[in-house]
Amino acid sequence: HGALSLKDVTLTYPTRRGAIHALGPVDLDIESGEFVAVLGPSGCGKSTLLKLASGLLAPTTGRLTLGGQPVLKPSRRTGVVFQKPLLLPWKNVQDNVLLPATTLGLPMPAARERAAALLKLVGLDGYAGNYPGELSGGMQQRVGIARMLLPDPDVLLMDEPFAALDALTREALTLELQRIWSQQRKSVLFITHSIPEAVFLADRILVMSPRPGRIVEDYRPGLPRPRT
Ligand code: ADP
Ligand code: ADP
Repeated sequence: HGALSLKDVTLTYPTRRGAIHALGPVDLDIESGEFVAVLGPSGCGKSTLLKLASGLLAPTTGRLTLGGQPVLKPSRRTGVVFQKPLLLPWKNVQDNVLLPATTLGLPMPAARERAAALLKLVGLDGYAGNYPGELSGGMQQRVGIARMLLPDPDVLLMDEPFAALDALTREALTLELQRIWSQQRKSVLFITHSIPEAVFLADRILVMSPRPGRIVEDYRPGLPRPRT
């Protein structure tokens, strides 16, 4: 149910100075439970790819499906984390984690229990009543990860989630994410600029090139590199 498929997908941004062909055509099949990292220079379409996968953007041409169902709009089946966790500063940690329950109308008592379990999972039990401004950058990103997991999505989409963190925090969170993923086995699309991070975390690494954004390498680190 977590299989993500893109068939002949392109994305063109209309702008005042004309259309920008940002992506594609892209054909991509991500298996359920697969951890896919995406590398590539700025402007090669990584964020565009992620926004398409989340349903935040509709493709100009082509089709996206998740577990065989068309991706038409954002849904609880995908969880998203960006470089900045975008927490609401006037809500405490627990209520920030519970935001998707509010917006999606999930049953509250169960969601509260799940929020508590997820805060424990990301190492923040004891911080439920704190406000984002009282937390370090790494802790805020942990809250973002707990919030992403709250609706139990099938696919996790992460756009440079650790890029704004210092190297030590980044390393700790990379290990945390690996542990969480090995427990939950979600499909993951993970954008990063760090090759070591991609190699450490991913089953599969996509490399993209710009103008227009395309996938130019599709590499499984665990397997011998194919000759081309
Ligand atoms: P990356 O995440 O790899 O840096 P993006 O997906 O953000 O790349 O951008 C891919 C291309 O699309 C770039 O050329 C960028 O300038 C263009 N682009 C991205 N967002 C928009 C937008 N909202 N309007 C117009 N062009 C955009
Ligand atoms: P940057 O300058 O981008 O922070 P680093 O050399 O610190 O680059 O490496 C990027 C990240 O890759 C590290 O912070 C860490 O999260 C991850 N990483 C690299 N090697 C390992 C490893 N052996 N085990 C776990 N994580 C690793």
